[in-house]
Parts: sequence; structure tokens; C-alpha cells
Amino acid sequence: MTSPRRVVVVGADAAGMSAAHQALRTAARRGEALAITALESSDHTSYSACGIPYWMAGDVGSGDDLVARTADQHRDAGIDLRLGTTVVAADLAGRTVTTSAGEVLGYDDLVVATGAPAVVPDWALRADGTSYDGVGVVKTLDDGAAWVRSFTRVGPGAHVVVVGAGYIGVEVAEAALEQGFGVTVLTRTRGMGMLEDEMSDLVNTGLVDAGVELVLGAEVTGLELDGDRVTGVHWEGGSREADLVVVAVGVRPATDFLAGSGLEMADNGALRPDPHGRVADHVWAAGDCCEVRRRIDDQWVFRPLGTHAAKHGRALGDSLGGGDLSFDGMVDTSITRFSACGVHLEIARTGLSRADAETAGFDPVALVTEGTTAAGYMPEAEPIAIWVMADRTTRRLLGVQVVGGHGAGKRIDTAAAVLWAEGSVDDLAWMDLSYAPPFSTTWEVLQIAARRVAERL
Ligand SMILES: Cc1cc2nc3c(=O)[nH]c(=O)nc-3n(C[C@H](O)[C@H](O)[C@H](O)COP(=O)(O)OP(=O)(O)OC[C@H]3O[C@@H](n4cnc5c(N)ncnc54)[C@H](O)[C@@H]3O)c2cc1C
Repeated sequence: MTSPRRVVVVGADAAGMSAAHQALRTAARRGEALAITALESSDHTSYSACGIPYWMAGDVGSGDDLVARTADQHRDAGIDLRLGTTVVAADLAGRTVTTSAGEVLGYDDLVVATGAPAVVPDWALRADGTSYDGVGVVKTLDDGAAWVRSFTRVGPGAHVVVVGAGYIGVEVAEAALEQGFGVTVLTRTRGMGMLEDEMSDLVNTGLVDAGVELVLGAEVTGLELDGDRVTGVHWEGGSREADLVVVAVGVRPATDFLAGSGLEMADNGALRPDPHGRVADHVWAAGDCCEVRRRIDDQWVFRPLGTHAAKHGRALGDSLGGGDLSFDGMVDTSITRFSACGVHLEIARTGLSRADAETAGFDPVALVTEGTTAAGYMPEAEPIAIWVMADRTTRRLLGVQVVGGHGAGKRIDTAAAVLWAEGSVDDLAWMDLSYAPPFSTTWEVLQIAARRVAERL
């Protein structure tokens, strides 16, 4: 009798555990047993980081509510899950990994699913590399718990400075306002910089209307401290007193332990797996430690999102288990909301930016269209703005962005489906979408927006 194939998974969250469970299922269907060991440096596994800002806001009762599968559930499924175990080196030729405790584990297949920890700038760190009191990132369940404790400690009326105005910065600003804090958002560029300027301006206006002090073009230079505790933030041209400082300036793939391995990596260390998750013989990867392929312009891009981690992890697991599922890239779709102090904005995008489209050689034509989310005579009607971009020559739909009230955001999925199918702006304008007054105008605003662009081509 042959011994089961040994699979070592490094990183036991969305991508790693999706892969592990799918590999077991697929292999079992084929009559093969796998011996899967999952090594995880933290004490947590399979939780929704995406829910942490809503826990901070008070919408989610506890960190436990964010746990999708417990360590015991993984173990019951037959996975040897080892928490508190960090991999520090991998020998791909010898097929071993080494942990920080010096243990060497052999594998037949290695799955890299180490994610991308938050970037912490030097100004936020003590000389020993730890963060000052009241300063931190929003990345892990432990971070969430620390912020919930800090929010209780400082109490309503305290002031929170958020550095960064991307998805997490905006979600944290919502949470802090909901907890009754004063909020300053500092951004080097602009609010939601992944949007076109005219759409980003709408987000900026929403933040300010909700009472956020928004400082655009702010390059943070340092902190004001009382002993070890933060009391303020300085940036070029300004400063602000602060009880808490949330740093949300991006993430970087955790692939340092693969340095020198010869694997293809992007400049930031992201791996580039094929649709089945393969990066080399017997080496697989998925999730935030990887770039993803954008179908529209066939480019590798770094989009650390749970939706990609889950899908790519599953495809990887299936292929590792002997199946053929593949993750065939994405069209750059994402969504968030900012909802606080009487302002409710749903913010979503899919496809290329104008700059991406020009780089890819398209001849983009784009317009912003304003309308309402429901028939104007209905009480639920709220403003919505939609940016649509198409290629002048081929009429291909290239990108759509949405900022608007309740019901605005998920309209992006219709546009994403057209992009996925490489459809035209005319497809979007004329396809059969549902209509009744509580949900849309007779001519759905997304279709009006597409039609207006079609008429300009
Ligand atoms: C606040 C917040 C909000 C978010 N909101 C959304 C959202 O709304 N929608 C969306 O699609 N995505 C969202 N995301 C992103 C989403 O959470 C991630 O894309 C997803 O968690 C990635 O899964 P992953 O398994 O690749 O990486 P991770 O979840 O980061 O897991 C990687 C694991 O590897 C472990 N690890 C790292 N290095 C080692 C090592 N050397 N040895 C052992 N273990 C190691 C880490 O401890 C970690 O547990 C959000 C993220 C955050 C932080």
C-alpha cells in the first residue's frame, strides 16, 4: 500500500483552507487519500477579515461571528492544522519547508497561501518594530479585537485619524463615525483613488457631508506622542490631535520566505500562478500573495480580494486533488459602502480605468450619467451616478463605476457580466433587465448611461 500524498499548506485562511478542503473532496472522489498539513502563523483560521470594519462599527457582535470554520472543524475534516506555526524557509528542490521552531517538514505538494500583511510605514513604528499605543492596522482578527478595545477605552467624542482612503480607510471612517468619534481621513492622493476623478469627488463629498475632515494630498511625516501613546499626527502642511490612528495604506505579499527560490514574482513579491494555481512543479499558490490575471487587457494586477482568494483557492484545490477546475481571471470588480451620519453611499467599479484602457491601446470614450435608483416618484429613489467607458473602434464595454444610494452598488454586477462576456456597450444598453418602480426607472439608469456612451462612439 502506498502512503498518501503529503500536501503542506502555508497560510490557513481563505485561499489555503478553500484549497485544502477542495483538494480532499476531489481526491476522495477519485479514491485518493491526501495527508494535508496546514501551517498557520497566527492563532486564527478561516475568518472574514472583510467583516472587521463592521465589527468595529458595532454592526457585528463579536469576532467569533466572523469565523467561517473553526480549527476543530478543519481537524475533524482530516486536516492536520497547526496554529502558531510560521514557515521561514522553503527548499523547493528538496521539497521541504522549515518553521521558525526549526522543524523541517517534507512535502509532495506545497501550497503557498500566505496572504499579504498590511504595510506599516516607519513613522508608525517604534525602534523595535512594534506600533505605538493607539496606532495600528486593520488586517487580522487580533487587530479587530484591539480596535474594539481601543474604541471602548477612548470613548465617544475621541478623535480618530485614518491614514489612507481606499476601501479599508473608508470602511474604518464609517465605523469610527458610527461609534461617535470625530474622524479625519488623510490621503496622499484622493478618496477612493481606484475611481475616476469625477466619481472619487462624489465619495469625497459624501465623506465631508457625514462630518469627516478629509485632507487630500496629505503625506504623513510623523506622530505626536505622549510617552508611548499617540496624541497627534503630522503631515506636510498640517497636523491634527488624535486619540487613535488607523493606518490603511495597503498590503504586501508575504512571500519573503521564497526569496531566491527562482519562482516568478512581481516587483512587490506577488506570485503569478496559472489558472489551476500552479507556480512550478509541485508548488501551488493562490490568494493575496498572488497577482491575478485581468481578462480585459490580459495583464497581471495585484488585487488582494477575498472573492479572488476563495475562487482561486478552490480551483487550486480541485486541480491538486486531480480535477480540472480553473480560475480564469477577473474583470477587476469591487464594491464597498460608506454609510454614516445620514450619508449612504454604495461605491463600486468594474473593468479598466481610463489610464489602463489607453495603455492597452483602446480608444476610450467615457461619460458620467446621473439618475435615480428607483422611479423618481417612489420614496426609495436615491441619487446614483454611473461612469461608463467603451472603445470607440470596437464598441466593446471597457469599464463601469457606480456611486449612489441604496441599491446602487450591486448594479455593477450587471456590467461585470457584460465585461466577462466581452460584450459591447450596446449589449449593456439593450439587454433585458428587470423593471418595477421600487427598483429602477423604466429605462434603467445603467442602461441610460450605456446608451449615452453608445451614442457618442
Ligand atoms: C479590513 C478588511 C476588509 C476587507 N474587505 C474585503 C471585501 O469587502 N471584499 C473582498 O473581496 N475582500 C476584502 N478583504 C480582503 C480579504 O480579506 C482577503 O483578500 C483575503 O483574506 C485573502 O485571503 P488569503 O487566504 O489569500 O490571505 P489571508 O487571509 O491574509 O491569509 C493568509 C494567512 O497566512 C498566514 N501566514 C502568512 N505567512 C505565513 C508563514 N510564513 N507561515 C505560516 N503562516 C503564514 C497569515 O497569518 C494568514 O492567516 C478585506 C480585507 C481586510 C483586511
